[in-house]
Amino acid sequence: MINKLIGILLLFLGLKVLLLQDFSGQWSDYSFSNNYLFVPLSLLLFYISYLFIRYNPKEIDEKFSKCKKCKKCYNYIELKKGICPKCNIETIEIEDYYKKYPDELKDI
Ligand SMILES: [Zn+2]
Repeated sequence: MINKLIGILLLFLGLKVLLLQDFSGQWSDYSFSNNYLFVPLSLLLFYISYLFIRYNPKEIDEKFSKCKKCKKCYNYIELKKGICPKCNIETIEIEDYYKKYPDELKDI
C-alpha cells in the first residue's frame, strides 16, 4: 500500500510544480519562472506517480485460478497463459469460478 501513498505524494508534487511553477520552500530555492523546465518535470512526476500507483506486487502473487475439469487450484503465475497443465484447458479466476459454480462452495 505504501507505493500508492508515494504515488499520490508525487502526483501532488507534480501538480504543485505545474501550477506554481517552482519548488521554492520544498527542495531548493531554484525557480522555474525563467524557463519552461517545469512542464517536462511535472510530466515526469505524473508518470512516476502513475507507475507507483499502478505497481501492485501482492495482486500478482495472490491471484489464484481453478480448473473446471480437474477442480485443481493453481497460483496464476505457475500457469502459462492460465492454461491447466493437466487438462490443457483455460482455468477460471477463483472469484469468477465461485460466481459461476456457487454449489462448489459447499464442498469446501
Ligand atoms: Zn485441469
